Amino acid sequence: MRPFPWGLREQRLREALVEIGARLYARGLISANDGNFSVRLDARRILITPRGRSKGWLRPEDMVVLDMGGRVLRMGRGRVGPSSEWPMHIEAYRQRPDIIAVLHAHPPYTVALTVAGVPFPSEVLPEVVMTVGSVPTARLAMPSSEDDALAIREWIRDRNAVLLPHHGVVTVGRTLEEAWIILERVEHAAKVYLLSRVLGEARLLPPEFLATLVTGG
Ligand SMILES: [Zn+2]
Repeated sequence: MRPFPWGLREQRLREALVEIGARLYARGLISANDGNFSVRLDARRILITPRGRSKGWLRPEDMVVLDMGGRVLRMGRGRVGPSSEWPMHIEAYRQRPDIIAVLHAHPPYTVALTVAGVPFPSEVLPEVVMTVGSVPTARLAMPSSEDDALAIREWIRDRNAVLLPHHGVVTVGRTLEEAWIILERVEHAAKVYLLSRVLGEARLLPPEFLATLVTGG
């Protein structure tokens, strides 16, 4: 495995998480003090958002440093500990040595799909087919518990996005930007799908077109 060549030092990663929080909040992908996100610092440590705080106006010093066992190596500002969803983040990193970023948000159109019991429409938009692929829905699990970590385990091994029913979505990426793009695409597709059903039939892309996309031909 390559030794973390991303070139971002810890302070820049802290600032990047602040920026992610501000954008998620501004885009309406998280509400209140929902959501949490993290990034690998190295093979043994991650940086993760603090518990309780709104992610819309975090500061770099709010982030918490954890080891891969979930032990706190450095608290956030005001001695605030990590997001209660930290087990889910650690689980994603354990399952995916190739990723450096994990984002968890509560995007309303995506969550609405799960509340309605509608599977994610992964074959409606070409860019979703090409860059996200299928997005499974995990089983119902108790938020902010080890149960969430267990619920995503089997899916996150080979998917970059997993829906948590009645709750939200988890995305992962080889960069923070990649995890962000996947998260935004998932919500965009959910929104377009819902609007198309309001207008009439939500049509899937034709199979022959899909085959061309998948093979890149
Ligand atoms: Zn959540």
